[in-house]
Amino acid sequence: MDDDDLSPPNKCPVCGSDPRTHPGLRFKINTKCYHRICEGCVDRNFSSGKAECPVGGCHVSLWKREWRTQTFEDLKIEREVEIRKRVSKTLDRQEEEFETKRDYDDFLELREELVMNLVFKTDEAATNRKLKEYALANGLKIDSSKAPTEADKKTTKKKDVDPTIADPSGLIKGLKKKVIREAEAPYDPFMGMPRNMDYYEVKDSFIARARGKPLEAMLAAGYDYGQYVDECLLRAFAGLGVFIEDEMATKNNTAVPVPDAGAVAIADDVF
Ligand SMILES: [Zn+2]
Ligand SMILES: [Zn+2]
Repeated sequence: MDDDDLSPPNKCPVCGSDPRTHPGLRFKINTKCYHRICEGCVDRNFSSGKAECPVGGCHVSLWKREWRTQTFEDLKIEREVEIRKRVSKTLDRQEEEFETKRDYDDFLELREELVMNLVFKTDEAATNRKLKEYALANGLKIDSSKAPTEADKKTTKKKDVDPTIADPSGLIKGLKKKVIREAEAPYDPFMGMPRNMDYYEVKDSFIARARGKPLEAMLAAGYDYGQYVDECLLRAFAGLGVFIEDEMATKNNTAVPVPDAGAVAIADDVF
């Protein structure tokens, strides 16, 4: 697109309709080639799907929805605003994301430089590539016409980047490191106490004893005999630090079971 293309034409470049002879003639523009054609030409050319811009020599493919009413009188401004919107949407960083005010200023300067590159078409391809790389590296959505190619995916994929780096593409400097929060563990009512402690061993004889008893509560809870005995023992002894076998041994050895320092230590170890 040359600058001449941007000066508002009086006639529709496609059908030649002139607003001076056709009062009420309305024009539409698109933000790919910025050609400006009349509404009638948009309807004629784009109603049946994607088509090429009908302005002579322009082969930009467009959908009908890409044609819109011009907001600014001057198409140059229209285009600059559009570019500015697009770049700001991609490089969307706030002051608090930067280490220092200076870093933020540098970022604003960089963004302005990229906008100006696109407006004046200096380093246009390189600038677009930088924006694309930034968007890809930061997981931003890119519109389908600029979808990542296989090569893009390859370059950005699996480079083992440090997840705390705020901008993996390296375009923006001075951003604070990302704080990676540890995933919160689910709530544990036992505060980390293992449920399978060796306080007891469910023996077949326990199950045999429980079997056959009219334990409606147990059956209602859907346990089988083994689970039921297990659950009862766990609830009875978990957290108490009671070792029945140890106590039995103590009982057999001495008339009065006195917990010695060792036993206390064992009990402490449980927690
Ligand atoms: Zn026309
Ligand atoms: Zn065009």
